[in-house]
Amino acid sequence: MSARTGVLLVVSGPSGSGKTTLCRRLAADRAAHYSISCTTRQPRPGERADHDYHFVSGEEFAARVAAGEFLEHALVHGHHYGTLRAEVLGYLAAGRDVVMDIDVQGAAQVRACADPAIQRARVDLFVMPPSEAELRARLAGRGTDSAETIALRMNNALEEMRHWPSYTYRLVSGTCEEDYARVKALLTAEQLRVSRLT
Ligand code: 5GP
Repeated sequence: MSARTGVLLVVSGPSGSGKTTLCRRLAADRAAHYSISCTTRQPRPGERADHDYHFVSGEEFAARVAAGEFLEHALVHGHHYGTLRAEVLGYLAAGRDVVMDIDVQGAAQVRACADPAIQRARVDLFVMPPSEAELRARLAGRGTDSAETIALRMNNALEEMRHWPSYTYRLVSGTCEEDYARVKALLTAEQLRVSRLT
């Protein structure tokens, strides 16, 4: 009576919106599998290979694109990022929910994906910072990026924020607890959808 396929929760939002913290917390609570992306950017201090990202060279990334391994991939802030099919499809089929932290280009590709399993699973959420001033403070507060990188991310964030109307759900970030409660409520509702029952 309870068998269902998984929910694919696609989460986007500018750097500093708090979306990565939200997605990671779902995974830490075992509420969903966190899809670990491949990226060609260098690890930041404290990031762990094959936990935060699969860090790969430009050559390896291109080879994996050619081999059709990615569900979606995009160039973000000058680096390549991509979601491996293997991080998503098997989990969904087994009834596990998957959360993806990806940019607006990647989310558009998932939305346009022809695979019926992806369409049945997909639900997308855009996370917004409460204000431009708060976003600026959060981007500066991370402490690991240069002033130039912060300025680039601020411009990219403002551009990225224009895309929220393409998403089904939008969350304006408040406290961590408020945000998490709302995302859990969204996931719970999506788990009850008749169209995902098998
Ligand atoms: P960061 O380098 O700060 O971890 O991530 C930069 C941006 O890349 C974020 O907006 C993040 O959501 C996005 N991103 C991370 N992984 C992927 C991915 O696999 N595909 C796409 N399209 N974007 C990603």
